[in-house]
Amino acid sequence: MQIDVLLIGQGLAGSLLAWELLQRQLRVLVVDNGTENASQVAAGLINPVTGQRLVTQSDLETLLPTAMHAYRQLGIKFGQTFYTDMPMLKILRNDQERGIAERRLAQSEYCDYFAGFTSAPAGVYAPRGVLQQRQTGYLRTEALLSQLREFLQSKNCYRCDSLQYSDIRLEPTLLWRGLSPLNIVFCEGFQAIANPWFKYLPFQLAKGEILGCESAPELPDYILNYGHWLIPLGANRFKTGATFDRVQLNTLPTEAAKASLLASLRAVCPQQQTPDVYEHRVGIRPATLDKQPFIGRHPRYPQLYIFNGFGAKGSLAIPWYAARFADYLQQIADLPHRCDIRRFDETHFPA
Ligand SMILES: Cc1cc2nc3c(=O)[nH]c(=O)nc-3n(C[C@H](O)[C@H](O)[C@H](O)COP(=O)(O)OP(=O)(O)OC[C@H]3O[C@@H](n4cnc5c(N)ncnc54)[C@H](O)[C@@H]3O)c2cc1C
Repeated sequence: MQIDVLLIGQGLAGSLLAWELLQRQLRVLVVDNGTENASQVAAGLINPVTGQRLVTQSDLETLLPTAMHAYRQLGIKFGQTFYTDMPMLKILRNDQERGIAERRLAQSEYCDYFAGFTSAPAGVYAPRGVLQQRQTGYLRTEALLSQLREFLQSKNCYRCDSLQYSDIRLEPTLLWRGLSPLNIVFCEGFQAIANPWFKYLPFQLAKGEILGCESAPELPDYILNYGHWLIPLGANRFKTGATFDRVQLNTLPTEAAKASLLASLRAVCPQQQTPDVYEHRVGIRPATLDKQPFIGRHPRYPQLYIFNGFGAKGSLAIPWYAARFADYLQQIADLPHRCDIRRFDETHFPA
């Protein structure tokens, strides 16, 4: 059987790319090994202004509207709400953060993203003040992936299987288990570091842990951001996360991460002394050394592609880059240079 694209991985990257390619009438098969992935673990937060210096994410003006449009359209198509708009309260932790917040509030280019200083909600300790952010919210990634998997299955475009690289025949044409794809696109998340064709790319993976908690004291109706974050989910439940570890790159939950998340929560919400932790999940972010995605065609095997490297901001970035990738595959437009893997020197490729 001939198909246009064999796509490996059904995380957020593979799912949204498959959706984009199917909208363009391409014949697609998605293969995923069915293990828990970073996208299912992720909080799905979209936060236009991040970091201690409160700077806008690069290319925000294109990424944000595209992401909002995509999640709205998917919500309409499947009759569900995948993206929840929710204002975020940035708890200012020291005088430096307060000073930066004051400067940003005076800058007109930030006025779409900040509503101004506000008072701390009941139960929140914020002696340096609170900055209210706008255009923030979170994607229910797990629900979206599950819905898209069902959709792909209904179109015979999904297979639960683990791809072995040695099963791929490259010459004279691609062949994998009796299938003749014109192209293979790898969307393997962090597992790309084992991919023989793309492992040369400088990934900089980061493990993250997240807790699902239940609490008797009332929760605010806002996302709280205090270095870590809290997302209220309703019915006294909330998520808090996420840790960031570039050293222990495994998917084992640790007591140290749990203790650190609960300690920083207690510092801001003193009433949350002993929330009931009903869930503790771990994932590995496919982050990259230069903080830009890894997208493009293999320099020696032009029928092999990668769509990966979305780091800690997959929810914001993937919808826009999925459309750029599809344009590139269909030879409608070249890739933006910043994400194109041609930015890495070919001489570094292994023989
Ligand atoms: C703790 C944590 C919190 C996060 N919070 C946020 C957040 O708030 N906001 C945000 O935007 N991002 C967040 N992220 C980042 C986000 O998860 C990633 O940007 C995004 O999920 C990456 O998606 P992906 O599809 O590239 O990778 P993944 O979700 O890891 O998907 C890759 C898929 O490929 C499959 N696969 C790999 N190899 C094979 C093979 N050989 N055969 C078959 N299948 C294979 C895997 O099983 C997996 O299903 C967070 C990540 C973590 C870990």
